[in-house]
Amino acid sequence: MKGMMMHRPLKIADLITFAAETYPTGEIVSVRTEGDIHRTTYRETSRRIAQLAHGLKELGIRPGDRVATLAWNGYRHFELYYAISGIGAICHTINPRLSAEQMIYIVNHADDRVLFVDVTFLPIVEKLRPHLPKDLRVVVMTDQTHMPETSLDGVQCYEDILDGKPEEIEWPDFPEEQAAGLCYTSGTTGNPKGTLFSQRSTVLHAYSLCVTIPKTLCEGTRILPFVPLFHVNAWGLPYAAPLSGASLIFPGGALDGKSLFGLMDREKVFSAWGVPTVWFALMKEITENGRLPDGLKDIVVGGSAAPQSLIEAFEEKGINVCHAWGMTEMSPLGTQCNLPEHLEDLSFEERIARKRSQGRRVFGVDMKIVDEKGARLPHDGKTPGHLYVRGNTVTSGYFEDPEASKSVFDDEGWFFTGDIAAIDQDGFLIITDRSKDLIKSGGEWISSLDLENIVMSHPDVANCAVIAVSDPKWDERPLLIVQAGADEKPASQDLLDLLAEKFAKWQLPDNVVFVDALPLTATGKVSKLTLRKQLAEDAE
Ligand code: AMP
Repeated sequence: MKGMMMHRPLKIADLITFAAETYPTGEIVSVRTEGDIHRTTYRETSRRIAQLAHGLKELGIRPGDRVATLAWNGYRHFELYYAISGIGAICHTINPRLSAEQMIYIVNHADDRVLFVDVTFLPIVEKLRPHLPKDLRVVVMTDQTHMPETSLDGVQCYEDILDGKPEEIEWPDFPEEQAAGLCYTSGTTGNPKGTLFSQRSTVLHAYSLCVTIPKTLCEGTRILPFVPLFHVNAWGLPYAAPLSGASLIFPGGALDGKSLFGLMDREKVFSAWGVPTVWFALMKEITENGRLPDGLKDIVVGGSAAPQSLIEAFEEKGINVCHAWGMTEMSPLGTQCNLPEHLEDLSFEERIARKRSQGRRVFGVDMKIVDEKGARLPHDGKTPGHLYVRGNTVTSGYFEDPEASKSVFDDEGWFFTGDIAAIDQDGFLIITDRSKDLIKSGGEWISSLDLENIVMSHPDVANCAVIAVSDPKWDERPLLIVQAGADEKPASQDLLDLLAEKFAKWQLPDNVVFVDALPLTATGKVSKLTLRKQLAEDAE
C-alpha cells in the first residue's frame, strides 16, 4: 500500500524562493572582477535570477540544454546556478585550470549552447574558440561599462541579458530526476568524466549539509566558500546556505592569503571552506598578523587529507576544524569530522587524533570496505579495504560515457571510490591510500597515467612512472621517474617540454629522476607501492 502524501518534485529553484521569503536579508557579498565589493540579499538575488531566467529563454535555452560557466565565485555565477537549473537546463561549470585540450574536450562533449565567462577568463575562450562548437554563444559576465575588447564575434554582455526583464517568474515543474548540473572530473586516464547532478540529488544534498553541520549552516552565520563554484558546486554551499539562512561571502579571483585574510576580517566570516593548501596560506597570514580574522570560528577542510599540523594549528587558536571527505561523484559530501557529543571531553591530543580521520558518514550515504575479491571487511579501524558508497546523492553513471560508467560499479550497484580506507567501530572513516592513479595538487587532479603515456612516446624512454610526493604547500606534487632506453638518456628538459605541449604548467612534474630499473608487479606493471616505499627509504 502506498502512503497518501502529496508528491511534489524536489526543485532547486524552490531553495532561492524559500530564502527570498524566509531570509530576505541574508546577504551575498562578492569581490568582483570590476575591482569592487558587491553586496546583495537573497530577496534581491531572487529577482535577478528571475530576470536571468527570462533572458536565458530568450537566448533559446530549453530544458536539457547545457549552459556552461567559466567563472570565479561571485553573485553572477550564483545567479546562473539557479536561473539555468530553474528553467530545466543544465549548469555546466568548467574548471579554468584544466589544460586547453581537456577544456576543448568537455565543452564539445557536453555540447554547450552558451558559455558564460568572467572577464578574467575571456583570453582562454579567445584562444580555444576555433575548437569549440560553432554555434556556441559567449556571454561576458559584466556590465556594459566594463565590457572588454575581444577578438570574438557576437559576444554578449551579462547585464544586457537581464535588462528590462520581469522580476517575477513561475518556475516550471518537471520530474525531480531532471538533470540540473554537470561537473567533469579527471579520470585516471583519458578524458575527464561528467557527473550529472539532478534537481532531486541537489536538493537532498542541501538538506544533508544543513542537518549534518547545523552549527555552521544556520540563520545569520557568514560563510566563505573558498572552494570554487566550478568544483563540484562549491561543496553544495550555494544551495545549503540559502536553505539555512546563512550568508555567502564570495572571494572572486582574490585568492592569495593576504586578500583572503582581509576579506574574512572585514566581512566577519564565521566559517570558511576549502582545501588544505588554502588553510596553510591563511595560517601564514594569521601568524604574520598576530591575530585571527575577526569572527572566524570554523573551517571546513576537504578535497585532500587534512594534515595533523594544520588541524593542530587552527584548533590551538580555538577554531573548530571540520575535516570532510567526499567526491564530485557524491555531490560531494560523504563524511565529516565534527566530533559527536560523547567525544567532546577528549583531551586536546585525542581530539586532534580523531579529527585526522575523515569522520562519520552523512545521512543518505552508505559505505562499505571490501577486499580484492569483493568480500566485506570488518569495521575495526585497522583493516583497510576498497571503499564503496551508495546513496541518493551518489552518481549512477557518467554523462554520455558508458565505458567509464561500466568500470565503477560492483555487482551490488555500489560506486567504487578509488580510495583505500578503514572504518572504526564508531563509524569513523580513515582514508589510508588511493588505488586510483591520480595525484591531487592544491585540490586539483593530475593523471599520472596520462603523463606517463606522453613520456613513453619519447624514443629514449624504456619505462616510466609518475608518483605523488607530499608537498608542504600543495599537499602532493608529481615526480617523474624514468628508466632510459638502451642507447641514450633523454634530457629532463626534453621530457618536460614534451609534456608541456599537452598539459597545463601546474600539472608538470617538478622533478625528473632516472633509475636503472623500475620495480614491477607480478603482472609486469610498475609497482608504485614499491616505488613510494623506496623513495621514502631514500629520503630517510
Ligand atoms: P574530487 O572529486 O575532485 O572532489 O576528489 C575526490 C577525491 O579526493 C576522493 O576520492 C579522495 O581521493 C580525495 N579526497 C577528498 N577529500 C579527502 C579527505 N578529506 N581526505 C583524503 N582524501 C580526500
